[in-house]
Amino acid sequence: MESIPRIKTSNGDIRTPALLPVCALTYGVWDVFIEEKVIPPWKLSEATMFSLEYVRNTKYEEKVINGFHKLFSDNKPIFVDSGGFQSMKKGIERDPIDVLRFQEKLKADIAATFDYPVPLKVERTEYMKMLQKSIDSANLSLENRKRKKMLLYSCVHGFSEEEIEWYFSKLDYGFDGYAMGSLVPRKNDYKTLIELISKAKSLSIERGKPLHIFGVTGFPMLYALSYMGIETMDSWTYLVASVYKEYIHPETLKRVKMRKTGHIPSCDCFICKDHNINDFLGGTSVPQAYLAIHNLNIFMKEMNLIKEHLKDNSFDQLVELKSKNNQRIKKAYEHVKKYVNKE
Ligand SMILES: [Zn+2]
Repeated sequence: MESIPRIKTSNGDIRTPALLPVCALTYGVWDVFIEEKVIPPWKLSEATMFSLEYVRNTKYEEKVINGFHKLFSDNKPIFVDSGGFQSMKKGIERDPIDVLRFQEKLKADIAATFDYPVPLKVERTEYMKMLQKSIDSANLSLENRKRKKMLLYSCVHGFSEEEIEWYFSKLDYGFDGYAMGSLVPRKNDYKTLIELISKAKSLSIERGKPLHIFGVTGFPMLYALSYMGIETMDSWTYLVASVYKEYIHPETLKRVKMRKTGHIPSCDCFICKDHNINDFLGGTSVPQAYLAIHNLNIFMKEMNLIKEHLKDNSFDQLVELKSKNNQRIKKAYEHVKKYVNKE
């Protein structure tokens, strides 16, 4: 599928496909990263995703409120989500304009409009109302945006191709991109995920705009989404795994419980070169940070491999090779091929 090779932001370009590590400014491990005691995630990727609800009301809010970039030693694009997903989980409802102003104050390079992600078991009439609210919120934000340097992405939802088509038809023109949510409850159903994402992809490219996919990127979807030409995607698997003391295996790309196995597989990343299992197992924030960065290194290494093989037209061979150790990569890829080859 067609895709946009570069997304221009006020803090540099994002070369696509790009994986954005999800970051927060909450506690422990984030202090270690901000102080650069361990190399932070934002130094390893094209751009970073910050979740608004994990910035707001934190001890760092005051420091970042007049410009996020001041907190970091280098300027790279920052994408700030709307916090819709966390708001839904916490049961709070934000005012879309208030969210937009907060994103503008932070000087986000890309911001997503406030949305109302739809859980799985909701009556149809109820969720159509939620979709309508997300649409209204997106159009209202577009009309009221003040900071033109900030790219504004409309959130997109829908549980069928028809609903996604309807959703796009209700959105005003003028968004800089689209960001698809409500996919997390379906994250293991590759067939449905790919069907929905592929619809959103064709509608966003018709408008000449990039598409971001929220929250479903493990390795199988990293492969599938990149092949589909999705411009950006995010993941915090690297971090969640580190909370559970899980080490991502460089070959199988699966999470290894270090305490269970008692050892770690060999890895040539810059963290593992200098550290051993005991450096990852400690109870403080530094070992967690080491582990998170090893995990992220594996994601970034795969992302680079994917880019190389897409360029050389040898993606099929890469999938074959990876599938020897991880069948799910092939499974997701087989669903994707049905859509991509349709063109
Ligand atoms: Zn490593």
